[in-house]
Amino acid sequence: MKKVINILYLITVIGITHHNSYATNFVNNDSIRGYKLITKLRLVKLIDSVLELEEVTCKELDELNYYASVLASSKTDSVKIFDNLSELSIYSKADETVLFPTVALDSLPSSFELILENNYLSFYNSPCKGIVTSNFGWRDGRMHKGIDIDLKRGDPVTAAFDGKVRVARRQGGFGNVVILVHPNGLETVYAHLHKLKVKPGDAVLSGQTIGLGGNTGHSRGNHLHFEMRYKGHPINPGAVLSFTEHKVFYSTITLKVRKTGLCAFPSNSSVHEVARGDSWHLIANKYGLSTKELMALNGIGKRYYLKVGQLIRVN
Ligand SMILES: [Zn+2]
Repeated sequence: MKKVINILYLITVIGITHHNSYATNFVNNDSIRGYKLITKLRLVKLIDSVLELEEVTCKELDELNYYASVLASSKTDSVKIFDNLSELSIYSKADETVLFPTVALDSLPSSFELILENNYLSFYNSPCKGIVTSNFGWRDGRMHKGIDIDLKRGDPVTAAFDGKVRVARRQGGFGNVVILVHPNGLETVYAHLHKLKVKPGDAVLSGQTIGLGGNTGHSRGNHLHFEMRYKGHPINPGAVLSFTEHKVFYSTITLKVRKTGLCAFPSNSSVHEVARGDSWHLIANKYGLSTKELMALNGIGKRYYLKVGQLIRVN
């Protein structure tokens, strides 16, 4: 069913009549890293190949959906996904001095998808390979807006995805911090660095060293504090990235706006909305999981108080 809907959506977006202009209008789809041009004709070609297949991979669908959504919001026939990483700009110049320019939650769609990785964006690289020592969530009465990963001073810390450096400086409790903005609108934050290896405006590729691990700012011991944010709102990295297998759980994530903030989970997973009287134990039982498995699925280490209306990933 999903396949049919996606293809219908694409056909609506681009109009299948573009077929005959194929020969005259063909534009090279240059896939040099950092420079990608897609045309409606390229999309038609992709759809043709999809329609002929019995099985379409998630990756192919993600790619099609991504282009379709970019084209849907564009008035021209061809779309530059991003000209060059160094030109990537989601925030205004004025925003560059603010640590986290934040939009109001109610100005975001109630539910939307983001592609984390595919052939045309980039692939995830874990920022450092240590063990997670502190999860996202409430900790000592304060919200911990990222996760902590163990490292040794001087260990390289690398970009999670292709992106542009928005912030690279010393900043209060964060110590030396790098904030990268990515083409899908997500931002990743790398704090407590011993040394910065990039400067604002630099284009970085996934896996590139952006700093060296350390213990600067409000930090007890060498570690990386890593955050993922969308338009200023933190999401739980542990819910969408595996820090033991160093991969994304799924190439696409779904974000839902809740009163408490943005909730993210892999788009191929199911969620349970917490009702009055629910507990971690009851929810786990309902879906045939242990409490530990349920917490692991949600990227949390400690049972915390559930709020009615909160979304919990259950598979
Ligand atoms: Zn932290």
